[in-house]
Amino acid sequence: MAQGTVGFIGLGIMGMPMARNLMKAGFRVVAYNRTASKAQQLATEGGVAAGSPREVAQACPVVITMVTDSPDVEAVALGPQGILEGIQRDAVHIDMSTISPAVTRAIAARLSERGAHMLDAPVSGGSWGAQQGTLSIMVGGDEAIFQRCLPVFRGMGQNIVHVGGNGMGQVTKLVNQVLVAGTMNAVAEALLFAASAGADLEKTIEAVKGGAAGSWQLQNLGPRLIKGDFAPGFMVKLQQKDLRLVLEAADAMHLPLPATALVHQLYAALEAAGLGDEGTQALVKAHERLAGVQARVRGRG
Ligand code: NAP
Repeated sequence: MAQGTVGFIGLGIMGMPMARNLMKAGFRVVAYNRTASKAQQLATEGGVAAGSPREVAQACPVVITMVTDSPDVEAVALGPQGILEGIQRDAVHIDMSTISPAVTRAIAARLSERGAHMLDAPVSGGSWGAQQGTLSIMVGGDEAIFQRCLPVFRGMGQNIVHVGGNGMGQVTKLVNQVLVAGTMNAVAEALLFAASAGADLEKTIEAVKGGAAGSWQLQNLGPRLIKGDFAPGFMVKLQQKDLRLVLEAADAMHLPLPATALVHQLYAALEAAGLGDEGTQALVKAHERLAGVQARVRGRG
């Protein structure tokens, strides 16, 4: 089924499977990636490789970005050969990276001066959700523009919620990260307590996961943690970028977030120890160093 043309900038762990899902949903995808080989790979699968974000914007009524951090979105949107130089009147830039709400609003204002629109649409669900097309997508921006872009979002995700004006998608994603960080910390402390008290860690998780203490983190990351599996779904260094965004935004509001700040510091200790590329469940290692006890099933880790 033909669905029209969508531009895609940033074919990383998340962006590549999201672009592939758009093609599966019937969209023609025009893609740019800084490392050109990834766009060429997509071209061998039916996409079109472009030479710059500007070229993508000239060719597409909707342009998605999925890059790393605020300065990276600024570079591809506002920099030389960027989206702003090529964007069509009434076209939409959808930024799906996790970045600062304030930077998002500034980019939206620049696009608006050119008669174009912006939606901030960060995601939750990890690389698995990106591959399966089951991402949760939290969208900020004009409601009518959101409605116009819904078929594009449906090509990549399932729980798609318009949460407010420009920047509110990013605010909601940061709320998500406060919840994820605090819950991961509770899982790490709980399993360390269980191990110290001589509990069977697998049975402990089995017993509590379905009750009031259940969580995605306990159910999915708890079993990996106790087996000593610290391979990343979501890397410590990316979570640190997100917690930095949370704490900067909180600071600007004079809002104390003591538990989130503590988790940020514990992850900083892991980064200092060279563990920034491990998964966020490695948080338990920071607690283990303080406690001198390990939360592992016997013989593992
Ligand atoms: P990634 O694998 O590191 O990919 C980053 C992509 O951005 C690459 O295509 C990279 O190009 C491009 N890029 C970075 N800086 C750039 C710049 N200055 N100019 C042009 N291109 C640039 O990261 P990812 O895991 O896909 O994450 C992307 C975004 O999604 C991040 O904001 C992240 O926080 C968010 N997110 C990630 C997850 C997850 O589980 N991974 C979950 C939810 C949200 P090159 O190929 O040239 O390096």
